[in-house]
Formats: sequence, structure tokens, C-alpha cells
Amino acid sequence: MKSSDSDISRSTLLRRYFQVMEIAQDLASTLDLDTLLNRIVHAAASLSDSVAASILLYDGANNQLHFHSSTNLDTPLMRGLVVPVEGSIAGDILTTRQPIIVHLVEDDPRHFKEIGESIQFKTESLLGVPLITKDKVVGVLEALNKRVGRFTLEDQELLTALASQAAVAIENARLFQQSDLIAEMVHEVRTPLASINTAAHLLQRPEISEEQKRKLLETIQGETRRLSEMTTSFLDLARLESGRTPFAVEEVELAGLLNEATETMQSKIRERDLLLEVDIPARLPTIKGDRDKLKQVALNLLSNATKYNRPGGKISIEAQAGETELSFSVRDTGRGILPEHLGSLFEKFYRVPGAEQVAQGTGLGLSICKKIVESHGGKIEVESEIGVGTVFTVHLPLS
Ligand code: ADP
Repeated sequence: MKSSDSDISRSTLLRRYFQVMEIAQDLASTLDLDTLLNRIVHAAASLSDSVAASILLYDGANNQLHFHSSTNLDTPLMRGLVVPVEGSIAGDILTTRQPIIVHLVEDDPRHFKEIGESIQFKTESLLGVPLITKDKVVGVLEALNKRVGRFTLEDQELLTALASQAAVAIENARLFQQSDLIAEMVHEVRTPLASINTAAHLLQRPEISEEQKRKLLETIQGETRRLSEMTTSFLDLARLESGRTPFAVEEVELAGLLNEATETMQSKIRERDLLLEVDIPARLPTIKGDRDKLKQVALNLLSNATKYNRPGGKISIEAQAGETELSFSVRDTGRGILPEHLGSLFEKFYRVPGAEQVAQGTGLGLSICKKIVESHGGKIEVESEIGVGTVFTVHLPLS
């Protein structure tokens, strides 16, 4: 009887190891970090027969771990949740580089309850393993709440095998992501640098007039400003894309946030002689989110509506609550965008041909908006009509 029991468990274990191999092949086939981490947590939950699984990535700059992906939460807001390295279970796994099994998490003083409370998930048992590549620990993979019985050493072995494959795939995806971004950045930086260089050379010519000198200096100033904006925005975007931006999750009151954003933009709106119409109900349900980042979205849309408007035109900002979502839109009476360009608007560095003549920009603002909105589980849409104007609408799910 005994031997057949262990035969069964041996064949189950073998089947599971095959599963790990298959998963590893699948993991190697994607370089998209979000997709990859999502696959890893699902594989971890299924392999260890757990209710849920999560990945925490290590942020060396701040010595923190933060949630990146999880099977039981579709809300990407979880990404912002930070777990301290000191005194937490995940932190211990990270620093000792050893797996940990905790049968009764509630009784463990290291358990970091705040997370469970904020996402309304009660962790009962836990199996965590470090994600190690070469010499580096990139994070921790945790399986939570074993469905039947307790976590076993076999579960631990399997998860460790999965983690070592996963860690390599994560590192590759990150490297790929960075090299891709850096290549794009370098490409974009070349144009303003070339303009500055040319202007500086021309300035040395004795024959140029005062008027020409003034124009060249303006070019240098303008391009320097653009480079500076580009680096700030680029850093924002790189952080958002790598999942290293912590989101400070709180209850956000949208009306207040939008009013503050319009207030900030007032002087620019007045400068351009634009009319501002605000239709924001005073009482809107709150949503869970990062207030500063959501405000950044509103500011960016308002700034575009100002920059790309016609003098004497109008900007309307409105908000409404639906059953499952809050939405707000920013409408302008600018020249509009041709349908063939609408699909590319949210791509990094994309500017509609001719935009340069209308206003300065980097082409990064809308990519950042999209990332932020999607990180809140929402979406951003654009509609435009040539000669009439453009409207951007942001939809955010109610928590
Ligand atoms: P930036 O304004 O810095 O160039 P964005 O990413 O915010 O970058 O916008 C990308 C491009 O989309 C802009 O360069 C512009 O061509 C176009 N665009 C954005 N908002 C509007 C708008 N309200 N009206 C017309 N075109 C717009």
C-alpha cells in the first residue's frame, strides 16, 4: 500500500516537473515583462496547488520589495504596494536567499498585514522562494494558501525550479526593455543636439546679424528646454514601464483633483486667450488610486488642449460617474487630428506631422498618460474631427 502511495506521488512529482519544463519554454518565448510575470504567477499557483501567487520585485535603489503581479487581483494597483525588506517574510527570503514555508501566517510576527488589509485577501499559509539569476536576487515568488493540506518540501522544490527559470526570463525581459528604451531615447536626443550644435557653430561666425544671433540663441534655449523635458518624461516612462514606480494608493476624490489641475493651467489658458468650461459634479464617488499620477494625466491632457488649440478657442473639461466607472474628458477646439494618426498618438515619441510648427513637445506625454491610466485598470480614448477639435476621455474603474 505504502509503495503504491509513493509511486503515485512520484509520478505526480514527475508530471509536475514536466510541467515546469513546459512553462520554462513558454516563459523564454516572451520578452514582455508584464505578460511574463503574469504567466509566472499563474504557473506558480497551479504548480503548488495554491489559491493565489504573487511576485514581488526588488528595488535596490530604495531597498524595498514591491508587488508586481498577482493571480488573485486584476487591479494593477497592487503594483504600488511596498513591502519593507527589514522584518518581513518576503524580505527574509530575499536576504537569506532561502525558501520559506509558513503554515500559519497569522501567527508569524513578520507577516506584513497592511497588504492583506488593503487588498482584502487573507493569507493563511505561504510558500516563498527567491528569484535568483547569476548572483543577483531580483525578487520573491510567493504561493499563498495551499488548497488542500500543507505546503510540502516537494512544493518548495518545484517552485524553486520554476523560480530559477523565471528569474532568467525576468532579467532578459528587463534588459530587452531597457535596451529598447535607451535606443529610442538616443535616437530622439540626436535631433535637438544637432540643432544646438549647429546654432552654436553659427553663433561664432563674425558676419551674422544681431537679429540672426537672437534667433540662434532662441533655438538653443528651446532645444535645451526640450531635452530637459524629454529626460524627465523619459525617466518617468522608463520607471513606469519597468514597474519600478511605486503607486501611493489612496482614496481619490476626482472632482478636487480635476479642479486643482485646471487651476494650475489657468494662467497658460488665459495667456492663449482660451475659454475654459468646467462641468464637474461636486459629488463623485471616490476611486482608489495614486492621486499625483492621476493629476499628472489631467494636467497633460489640459496642457495639450491648450497647446494644440486655436487662439480664442475653447477647452471643456467634464466628469461623470457611471455604474462601474468614473470618467473625465478634456475637449478642445483645435485643428483636430487626421484619423490615420490617431492609432499612433499613444506611442512613445510620436508627434503628429506638423505638430512641431504648432507647439513644442516631446511626444512622451500621452504614452505616460496611457501607462498611468492602465496601471489603474482604466483606459484612455481619443476622438477627433478635423477643423472641429479633439476630445480625450479617461475611464477609471470604481473600486
Ligand atoms: P507632446 O505634446 O509633448 O508632443 P504628447 O504625447 O502629449 O506629446 O502628444 C503626442 C502628439 O499628439 C502631439 O505631438 C500632437 O501631435 C498630438 N496631440 C496631442 N494632443 C492633441 C490635441 N489636443 N490636439 C491635437 N493634437 C494633439
